[in-house]
Amino acid sequence: MSGECILIIDDSQEMASHLGEQLLPAFGFRTIQATNGQTGLQIIREQKPDLVMLDLNLPRMTGLDVLQALTAEALDVPVILMTGYGSEKSAIDAFRLGIKDYLVKPFTVEEVLEIIDRALLETRLRHDKERLIVQLRRAEADTRRQLSELNLFLSAGKELLMLKQADAILQYCLSMALRLTNAEMSAIWLPDPETDKLLAYMHGDEVQRRPEFDLPANAMLIGGVYQTGLPFHDAVFSGEGLQLLPGLMARAALLVPLTLRQKVVGVLGVTNKIAPQAFSEREQLMLASLADYTAIALHNAALGQAYESGPANRPLDMFDTQTVMTVSHDLRAPLNSIVGFVDMLSQTTPLNEQQELFLRHIADSAERMMRLVDSLLDLARLDSGLPEARQLCNLTAILADVTMDLRGKALANEIQLVVDTGPDLRPVEGNAARLTQAISNLVDNALKFSPAGGTVRITLTCEGKTMQVRVSDQGRGIDEQYLPHIFDRFFRIENDPNVGGFGLGLTLARSITEAHGGRVTVESRVGQGSTFVMHLPAYMGSELLPSARSASARSASA
Ligand code: ADP
Repeated sequence: MSGECILIIDDSQEMASHLGEQLLPAFGFRTIQATNGQTGLQIIREQKPDLVMLDLNLPRMTGLDVLQALTAEALDVPVILMTGYGSEKSAIDAFRLGIKDYLVKPFTVEEVLEIIDRALLETRLRHDKERLIVQLRRAEADTRRQLSELNLFLSAGKELLMLKQADAILQYCLSMALRLTNAEMSAIWLPDPETDKLLAYMHGDEVQRRPEFDLPANAMLIGGVYQTGLPFHDAVFSGEGLQLLPGLMARAALLVPLTLRQKVVGVLGVTNKIAPQAFSEREQLMLASLADYTAIALHNAALGQAYESGPANRPLDMFDTQTVMTVSHDLRAPLNSIVGFVDMLSQTTPLNEQQELFLRHIADSAERMMRLVDSLLDLARLDSGLPEARQLCNLTAILADVTMDLRGKALANEIQLVVDTGPDLRPVEGNAARLTQAISNLVDNALKFSPAGGTVRITLTCEGKTMQVRVSDQGRGIDEQYLPHIFDRFFRIENDPNVGGFGLGLTLARSITEAHGGRVTVESRVGQGSTFVMHLPAYMGSELLPSARSASARSASA
């Protein structure tokens, strides 16, 4: 039983105390007793019981009079009428006046409980429904908030990784830290390579260096996070609050490490000085991920700067395998947490159409970033010169695979995809999955930049000792000034984020071709189209060509 309140209106003291003091409390009900109709009505008006057990034969105001008064005053409460033997006719009148049920005295315990249960069913269902609606409303508001936080968090990650200047990265990180946690102040401490100090940067219109808040790397709290890599999370609402540094007080503080390659490279903190508001676990999680992104972005900016400031300062290879692999690994952590969040949200919360769309958008963006990470890993592997499985590859079969994969895209863009093969073709010695990837990138670009109604033609020929894969389109072409750069890493002519790509497709195609002892050339005219040609050394041996389709080659290299 669920502790519902039952009012017993009965002039028989014996009946009232049997029901009200013994039987019903024993089954978990609260009870109120009234010995006449007037008092009963008053209690109904004031205390709104969940159920009324009403005796028919009351002095002065009878049970039927009470029912009439309830109807007249529109008091909506379920009523069980208690009648003596032979009063069934009155019970019929009482049904007309809206009673839920009636009991004939004397009754058994089972009868009473069964009838009460039945009479309360509707009320219970209504209460359940009301509770559910409140819960659903709360869950919906919660989902909305989480979704917008997640979106903000995701765009923060993307935005940070695109920034090239340390100042801009710090500025963005500090303002995003405030937005993600609703904090009043945000600050970053970064180690000074020259001294043993942590240098303080705080949020303002522009990022502000605040030497007065610099501190030794082993100082309390902030230094502690720097030394141990463990976050600090506390709130003190009495007295003056927490002292983070001499002259820096807060009511609530959240400090997280900036970590790169398992090494702490700084501390990011947010505080509330005025609002008596502690930070939540979720805010800690988001701040930690923001710190991860910031550490990667700062690292990339430092590498980029070293690269631009000339060969003397350039690291041996800015994209050395180890760096890219570690950075990619570090990138995967926040990305995985996004994917996890999205999964959790879609599984645990009922979502409306708009929220589902929103969530799909987030999942797509995360997937896009995963693709970027994978491309970087591919480049790192190719750069490292690590050996990859090699076999004799039939380029005709590879072209068949590429066109099969991209036929859907061609169809959707209303572009005709044509393959021409010349005579006397020879195999090439190489990795079929990589060759498929390189040709795919060229054909994918051709489709991407072709107008509807155009044709993309792939021609496979053998020119002496060279196999040539020629991919021609009738698209917008490439301005002469850009041609020397289009194979560079991250080079993109357009800034339109709707045109997918990271500026790595051609870099990969060239790296793969070069790893096979070949080269890629391009001819292009603005407004007329482009032709990319992969030149690959033909296999001139006499060994029989394996009939392997590239699909099997793909799995061999995966
Ligand atoms: P993404 O993966 O971003 O497309 P790519 O490295 O494949 O990057 O290409 C670099 C740039 O070269 C693209 O941004 C695009 O502007 C240009 N480009 C590549 N292929 C073509 C093409 N077939 N027609 C016109 N422009 C092209």
